[in-house]
Amino acid sequence: MRFIVTGGAGFIGSAVVRMLVETGKNEVLNIDKLTYAGNIENLASIGGSDRYTFVQEDICNQSEMLRLMQTFEPDVVMNLAAESHVDKSIDSPAEFIQTNVFGTYSLLEASRFYWINHSKKKNNFRFHHVSTDEVYGDLEPSDLPFEETNPYHPSSPYSASKASSDHLVRAWNRTFGLPVLITNCSNNYGPYQFPEKLIPHIILSALKGKTLPIYGDGSQIRDWLHVNDHANGLILVAQEGRVGETYNIGGKNEMRNLQVVESICAILDELIKDKPDGIEQFNDLITFVSDRPGHDQRYAINCSKIEKELGWTPRETFETGIRETVEWYLDNSRWCERVLSGEYRLTRLGEVERS
Ligand code: NAD
Repeated sequence: MRFIVTGGAGFIGSAVVRMLVETGKNEVLNIDKLTYAGNIENLASIGGSDRYTFVQEDICNQSEMLRLMQTFEPDVVMNLAAESHVDKSIDSPAEFIQTNVFGTYSLLEASRFYWINHSKKKNNFRFHHVSTDEVYGDLEPSDLPFEETNPYHPSSPYSASKASSDHLVRAWNRTFGLPVLITNCSNNYGPYQFPEKLIPHIILSALKGKTLPIYGDGSQIRDWLHVNDHANGLILVAQEGRVGETYNIGGKNEMRNLQVVESICAILDELIKDKPDGIEQFNDLITFVSDRPGHDQRYAINCSKIEKELGWTPRETFETGIRETVEWYLDNSRWCERVLSGEYRLTRLGEVERS
């Protein structure tokens, strides 16, 4: 199949592109603006393939999106281009509205014109929008995990922008008949994740002997999924999902943030013999800091729909996946140094003063 993947130089997008090119005979056009979070080095392993092309472009450029679709003739447009960091959305929400809301609108319109006017693709074209479980909002400990039919209650500028984009995608299906699919996934972890996110942030800060900041008391619960399990699920939904449907994707790994950090520290204790000065074990670096404004307490995913309909299931447990991830960051210090040489230097974002 011919895939346009937007945001293919990011964390999840690059895992999808690598999987599409490395397994099967798919042709991929990766469209990415290369913001601070996009890194072309993430695609070094497939960069030389004649089934892979990269174009640096902004998804908000609708005429260029249409031109690229008309030239490349995709069967699937998979939208992963986004501003994705909750803390950053608190500091600078405008970019989130621009890319996540307006950018999705721009891609939907380009896809609609391409789909209407391209008779060869009329019957099998799909627009697949990649979204998050955060659109569903906050769960109490006793609440059942999110199902696809749960109402949306986003809390942060990030999740509100993703919720908006999901609504646009559904409206383009209902009003214009555009064949769409939506997936909502829980927290991803794995290789190539930009170190603003919890897991790489903790690994790299620990290696530098910096404090390991825990927001609030660390009791917030997230469901964790290995990025390759997500990529696998996305490709399955794009190819075999029922048009017009939403599929939740999750790892069945609900964990408190503090537990996640402690498990990373335990692996580092085992793997790193020479600890940074002044500490006996990495846990000593844990520091509790003020909570994130509007921080949701719990997310949990019911992914039985994708399991039953498409036979998807996560392969990685958190125990195996987190160990492999820690080892990847230890083995790829050059990648880490390069991504940290830009604007972002393991500093905190997203604190607000409230009266
Ligand atoms: P990421 O921040 O690592 O990557 C985003 C990519 O999009 C980057 O390569 C960036 O350069 C590109 N991009 C940003 N703005 C663009 C624009 N205007 N035009 C073109 N490209 C642009 O994000 P990620 O973690 O890989 O997330 C990908 C998608 O998956 C997002 O839509 C996110 O909401 C969703 N998601 C992420 C998670 C997670 O845990 N990371 C979980 C569920 C869903």
